[in-house]
Amino acid sequence: MTTEKPLVRFENVQKSYDGEILVVKDFNLDVAKGEFVTMLGPSGSGKTTCLMMLAGFEPVTNGNIYLKDKPINNVAPHKRGIGMVFQNYAIFPHLNVRANLAYGLRYDKIEKAEVGRRVEEALEMVKLPGFGNRRSNELSGGERQRVALARALIKRPKVLLLDEPLGALDKKLREEMQLELRALQESVGITFIFVTHGQEEALSLSTRIAVMTRGKALQVASPKDLYNHPVSVEVADFIGQMNFVEAQVMDVRNGEAVLDSTGLGKISAPASSDFVQKGANIIVAIRPEKLILSAERRSDGLRAVQGTIKTSAYLGDRDHFYVSVDGCEKPFAVAISETGANSDQSLERQSIVWLSWADESLILLPRD
Ligand code: ADP
Ligand code: MG
Repeated sequence: MTTEKPLVRFENVQKSYDGEILVVKDFNLDVAKGEFVTMLGPSGSGKTTCLMMLAGFEPVTNGNIYLKDKPINNVAPHKRGIGMVFQNYAIFPHLNVRANLAYGLRYDKIEKAEVGRRVEEALEMVKLPGFGNRRSNELSGGERQRVALARALIKRPKVLLLDEPLGALDKKLREEMQLELRALQESVGITFIFVTHGQEEALSLSTRIAVMTRGKALQVASPKDLYNHPVSVEVADFIGQMNFVEAQVMDVRNGEAVLDSTGLGKISAPASSDFVQKGANIIVAIRPEKLILSAERRSDGLRAVQGTIKTSAYLGDRDHFYVSVDGCEKPFAVAISETGANSDQSLERQSIVWLSWADESLILLPRD
């Protein structure tokens, strides 16, 4: 990121609704202008609460929220220049689309003709030109959500908050809207802070993701970094699928750790973090698609162990094999793509196989 001041900053923000339990604990997040940042986490992790504090609908219990570099804890919601779109598209059923959009501008002392222009412009943005006269009951779920989006955009907010806006749509429509949202965000250049509990949605849309649990951001990083360099077992487990084994560090030399692992035996892995120290008990993680299955032991010098295929699942674009290895509690998940780049033949259930990997594919994580 640039050295430019963040547009939005949460600084040690805490929230308690009842004066006792903190539902947001020490939340920190910087969002730069033009970013698409997603807060990803299970239900109850405090995502909505963070958005409500940023929008000004809930007071901050402790800490500060800044817009540019101004603290906004005491600024009224309508003076923050922040728009919000909710999951349950809050549009007025008794007003037509045009009146719903114009409603958002009612305090802004804008000329009637200009309001009309801005309504049309906003409808164009969400691909509903000419829908001004429709009533809520004449719209599909997807169209209603677009109207809610247009109603937020018409105010030309600096930041748009979207709280699970696609959650009520069916899968196909949701995927279509995801692409449109991303395109819209790029074309209008508004900073988006998006909330979802769907990791695929977060990975495909965001410039950065804040992984939330229990009122804290566990890691804030780009989708690629989160996937390839998770900082904890919890994040690694939450983003995609991951295999874990326990290990003890035997030695660390030149950025390389030698480990004694449960099931995989003596292994090596890149060691870039402080917790990887001689004698430490740690966790070794590897993604299912980084494991290689073969009937014979490969001759390319990769480390390998023998295992037994327990089950497999056909997933269309890939197969998942579950391979048990002596000494390991859980079978390893291995994902084989249709192209077969990491398997050398069709592998049968219950057959004995070799499981190989490159040292660089291993991720070392602290024990939680
Ligand atoms: P998320 O959006 O991640 O599902 P929320 O921010 O809605 O999480 O909720 C976080 C926690 O705060 C939950 O335990 C929830 O029950 C509680 N909570 C949310 N809103 C209120 C409220 N208005 N009053 C009291 N507790 C609330
Ligand atoms: Mg919520």
